[in-house]
Amino acid sequence: MPAGPIFDLLISRSIRGFSAVSAIPSSLRRWHLILLFFGMTLISFATWMTLNEEIANTSHLEITEAPNEIEKIEKTTLNEIDSSVAEKPDPWRTFKVRDGDNLSIIFAKAGFSDRDLYEVVKTSADGKKLSKLYPNHTLSFLSDVNGDLIGVKHRRSLLESTNYWRAGDSFKSKEIILTPQKKITWTSARIESSLFLAGQSAGLTHNSIMELANIFGGVIDFFLDPRKGDTIHLVYEQLFLNEEKIDDGDIIAAAFYNRGKEYTAFKYTNSAGDVGYYNAKGVSMRKAFLLAPLDFTRISSNFNPRRLHPIYKTTRPHRGTDYAAPRGTPVFASGDGRVIESSYTKANGKYIVIRHGEQYVTKYLHLNRRKVRRGQKVKQSQVIGTVGSTGAATGPHLHYEFLMNGVHRNPRTIHKKLPKAKSLPRQEIQDFQRGIFSAKRQLLTLKEELLLIAKNETGTVAH
Ligand SMILES: [Zn+2]
Repeated sequence: MPAGPIFDLLISRSIRGFSAVSAIPSSLRRWHLILLFFGMTLISFATWMTLNEEIANTSHLEITEAPNEIEKIEKTTLNEIDSSVAEKPDPWRTFKVRDGDNLSIIFAKAGFSDRDLYEVVKTSADGKKLSKLYPNHTLSFLSDVNGDLIGVKHRRSLLESTNYWRAGDSFKSKEIILTPQKKITWTSARIESSLFLAGQSAGLTHNSIMELANIFGGVIDFFLDPRKGDTIHLVYEQLFLNEEKIDDGDIIAAAFYNRGKEYTAFKYTNSAGDVGYYNAKGVSMRKAFLLAPLDFTRISSNFNPRRLHPIYKTTRPHRGTDYAAPRGTPVFASGDGRVIESSYTKANGKYIVIRHGEQYVTKYLHLNRRKVRRGQKVKQSQVIGTVGSTGAATGPHLHYEFLMNGVHRNPRTIHKKLPKAKSLPRQEIQDFQRGIFSAKRQLLTLKEELLLIAKNETGTVAH
């Protein structure tokens, strides 16, 4: 962590402390003020030190030392059975589970009988788990010099597997669950062509970019809002296994600067144990409706798709938003509700209408596919269909309408009338503020760093 920005921040905190002091009525004596000032500086320094230590600890925290049980079992088994086998590089034969595979097929492929299969499944404690086989799992087999089955490894993911090994007439089993090491990291990106590409160049996985969109989905329309020059800053977890990065973890905090407006979100677990994202004031980022009800990550080249001119535009007022997007792009329910229509007309093509409580209705037109039926309950961000060009549409796009009490409205301009997002209860605000302190400071540092880079770049251009 660079010392400079933190030191600057410490100074600016002290200055802020000072201006707070100067707001105290002049009836207080001067030495009170001086004492108070030093006291507050000391407290803010102490708080900063503690929090700094905390974040330093967190970023190097080892949740669990991943035990390499697989190797241990391999070694013992091999030593017990036949030491000559151990000299071969990999005595295990591994098969990847494909669509349509089952245990019998894979055991046969590996040269083992249904009887072997039966023994493993029936005699081991975790045998039933073996039959829950899904594509991309792997099954590995180990045999002794006579070719008899002595070990099976069932790997469900990088983190989860079950090992089975022969013990006399039966099989024993052990569940192996590895806990990845979490490291906190951060990144910034400036949007050049699209938010998705910016996220990718900042090293984020597709899932993290999706998560980012989910967090800000109630306040930002990721199709129409992002502009060149907008910036994102992220403090997030990375998951490591044996020093190797296996995935991104949760987003801890994020900031999005969109056309001069700043949006920030912080992860927080409330007293009931629910995890959510809140702005710096403790107001939930989860709004009643998404602004853009479709998966923006499918738009990878242009972030500001040209607005389509539907066939009817000239003959009647256009009452929705058109999102040009590739055919097949997932369309989300913009809020919790119930499907009241899932149908087809010549004009709308395949379309869906959702009712949200008493007042609100949303409509989704020209779909390629519908994935929900009439009467079905849906959750916000649930995929209800895919973008298409059915009905009177000039090209693949989603025509989205938002109605309040039967009248077409622009969801972003009637914010005051929409159901309010939940705020944290007053008694939790202090805990929340304490919890987000380090992340907030980190976002600020990232912002300053990017501004500095921008300044330097401008300098180069000027000369
Ligand atoms: Zn339209």
